[in-house]
Amino acid sequence: MDEEPERAKRWEGGYERTWEVLKEDESGSLKATVEEIRYQSKRKRVTDRHGQVRLGMMRHLYVVIDGSRSMEDQDLKPNRLTSTLKLMETFVDEYFDQNPISQVGIIITKNKRAEKLTDLAGNPKKHVAALQKAMGVACVGEPSLYNALSLALQTLRHMPAHASREILVILSSLTTCDPANIYELIKTLKSLKVRVSVIGLSAEVRVCTVLTRETGGSYHVILDESHFRELLMLHVRPPPASTTSECSLIRMGFPQHAVSSASDQDARPSFSMAHLDSGGGPGLSLGGYFCPQCRAKYTELPVECKVCGLTLVSAPHLARSFHHLFPLQAFAEGPVEEVAGDRFCQACQGELKDKSVFTCPSCHSVFCVDCDLFIHDSLHCCPCCIHSRSVS
Ligand SMILES: [Zn+2]
Ligand SMILES: [Zn+2]
Ligand SMILES: [Zn+2]
Repeated sequence: MDEEPERAKRWEGGYERTWEVLKEDESGSLKATVEEIRYQSKRKRVTDRHGQVRLGMMRHLYVVIDGSRSMEDQDLKPNRLTSTLKLMETFVDEYFDQNPISQVGIIITKNKRAEKLTDLAGNPKKHVAALQKAMGVACVGEPSLYNALSLALQTLRHMPAHASREILVILSSLTTCDPANIYELIKTLKSLKVRVSVIGLSAEVRVCTVLTRETGGSYHVILDESHFRELLMLHVRPPPASTTSECSLIRMGFPQHAVSSASDQDARPSFSMAHLDSGGGPGLSLGGYFCPQCRAKYTELPVECKVCGLTLVSAPHLARSFHHLFPLQAFAEGPVEEVAGDRFCQACQGELKDKSVFTCPSCHSVFCVDCDLFIHDSLHCCPCCIHSRSVS
């Protein structure tokens, strides 16, 4: 485990040599090259997409957040902790938007301990509330990578083999206080196919390099806040499933929301099964989602039925993860001069001013760079293809 390939440290390689790229135009302005850099970085996001690969659609992800003293540093505004928690709120929303049948849990490590902020669950509201509550807590002591990883592992090891097991660590401290040999733990993580990724807020730490390399995760150190956001959002997309992961058909139930009406014979409020372990939340209610197999009641989806084990999801939710399996193909980039007829973007109707335009390979509609990004990032289908299909 000791040999390490010779290469530049990540924080050196990560910087783009902007002073070499920047060039003044005739009028002495930098605007043109700055625009070009901005444009290239936008494009990178679309072209970075994987092609047809198997994706882990059912994800179980623990996010470990460093809560140690170093999170008080003010290089991120107002400080590292607040900035991280704010970004995490966005992350949680995006994650459930893109991975509706997946789960997230949050762990905080400080003062040599690790504790769960939230359990592995599919409800974004609970996580966001917990993150907001954590905003005021004090940052103390050192983090414990070992304790945080083993706490996550306790739950993840019981997750079904067809689902992904992932941990994402946001680490600010350059030290960690570990009660036992972490390299043994890394071996266990590897054997249980837990993929660990790390986002460093300070500098590269050797143990994280080994940890991420051995478990097949990624390791990045942030440059600034916008880079931090970018790195975090990379974890929104489902990772390619490892070829060894079990493939299986999953039985799912699609319960409809039902409210027992007054005319109903047994119209009486009942508890949701989710109260068995959470305890909180709303009390008795008339309505709910009933498991089609055993009639157990739940107030929120998605959930795994506690009685019969059936995965209960809502059909619209499942439909939303569909685009990951059939990603929209990249549009062909071409010079604006080649556009025949009016030079207007088919989506926003704006004039095509950039030097490149993007053409849908199926319907040959032309789009501007911003619409191309929006179509690939959010819409996941070509607006003009759909139009021509519904007309014919
Ligand atoms: Zn059931
Ligand atoms: Zn447009
Ligand atoms: Zn099209």
